[in-house]
Amino acid sequence: MSQNVQEDGQQTFKQAAQPTRRMPKATSMLVLALTVAGVTTAVMPEARAQSAEALRHLDSAVKNSGGDLALLNHYREYSCDAVEDTGMYPRSSAERRETRVPLTQIFDNVWYIGDMYVGQFILKTASGGFVLIDALNNSAEVDQYTMPALRSLGLSASNPLLAVMISHGHGDHDGGANRLREIFGSSLAIYLGSGDARNKAYNPLQIDSAIAEPQERTIGGTTVVFQSIPGHTPGMMNFVIPVRHNGVEHKLMMGGRQGHPGAVASARSYLRGTERSYELVKKYGVVGTFLTHPTSDGTTVHMQAIERAGSRDPNPFFIGHERTLRAAAMWRGCAAGWLSTRDASSVELVWRVTSLTFPELKPNLNTVSAQLASGWGPNDPDAAQTTPDAQWGPIAGQTVTFSIEGGGPGCTAITNAKGLATCTLPNKAKLLPNQRVAASFEGNTTDTFVNLSSKASAVVPARGR
Ligand SMILES: [Zn+2]
Repeated sequence: MSQNVQEDGQQTFKQAAQPTRRMPKATSMLVLALTVAGVTTAVMPEARAQSAEALRHLDSAVKNSGGDLALLNHYREYSCDAVEDTGMYPRSSAERRETRVPLTQIFDNVWYIGDMYVGQFILKTASGGFVLIDALNNSAEVDQYTMPALRSLGLSASNPLLAVMISHGHGDHDGGANRLREIFGSSLAIYLGSGDARNKAYNPLQIDSAIAEPQERTIGGTTVVFQSIPGHTPGMMNFVIPVRHNGVEHKLMMGGRQGHPGAVASARSYLRGTERSYELVKKYGVVGTFLTHPTSDGTTVHMQAIERAGSRDPNPFFIGHERTLRAAAMWRGCAAGWLSTRDASSVELVWRVTSLTFPELKPNLNTVSAQLASGWGPNDPDAAQTTPDAQWGPIAGQTVTFSIEGGGPGCTAITNAKGLATCTLPNKAKLLPNQRVAASFEGNTTDTFVNLSSKASAVVPARGR
């Protein structure tokens, strides 16, 4: 299905440098370390001067990783580089455009074809038909890449191409749409956000860009979700795609991390779009992302991992729901930082991912407690900061609600200065071995922060451990 030797002698997908940086890794991590410590990134040789507003948000995008290096490398750096160092990833370099990615299966029902800068996904629906996500650069690429790929996957009268979902109206995403219309005729549904639909000869089926709520459509028995996030373009969209792995369905987001727009209004709209994306991830229990600009969210790295391993199991695209939420919050921090570079007067609340952990869970206890924290947890270097807008780590004064699985009513407590919420179980109840305990924090907004909701659960250890 995929070959590494390219007939024209170009660098192959598997060998290609990923990503191409101008800054050595060590420097990059140093910068992150400095950002964590609250030191200005102005020590960085290629850094731009950053305003306090930009730094608050850029810093949040480090903190919200919770110290997860994969999130920092695959999501923060790709999302924040436009704010910190525009030259960090020459994403659209000739090298990337010229390195073809052969048809690569990434899930039971999803394939990628394109180059290392941009490409398209092919989704096989429940009915056996196909849906394309984006349409490559131009007609020639549809003939050269899309059509042979579809045929090799079984395109036929009974397994037809049912629809094309276009993320936005830029030519590297819809350049092949006219050719698809020509080949498949007027019955092919080509979905595009209404904000980008003007003067499109391929007569798109419009998804209303003014509707903020996710919109579901069932195509060939498979339900996909469109979400308008105007900003990169007026018609920009995220998709939620049900992917299958070893026969089990998981929801992934196709979207995010397109280039930051220059105009202030668009940059503000883009920021709101990242906030919507977070809500989308939360609503649909999304466990990972993929993108038709594969270098911008780690898609290339994951495809290369699959290629090298010769296996999709374990599948590197699945990073888990909690980490996908963190990634979305990090992207939002980068977008808020970006807005401040376009509009020096912009003041946006800083988003904080929160987490709950159970420090003490023993059988027979009649109390239950959990610690609520932001950033890198209780040991966050900024836990001791005294100014409210600089303090991270444990969060005081917040309500945590506990519930006991099958164990009657739970209880509620307010976190203390260490972020600890502790309450006594009602009705003289005691924790039982192997019982599952859950804690939840609904989230709130302060003068400085949007504290995002969180929940956690843990099992009471068995007796004698
Ligand atoms: Zn674009």
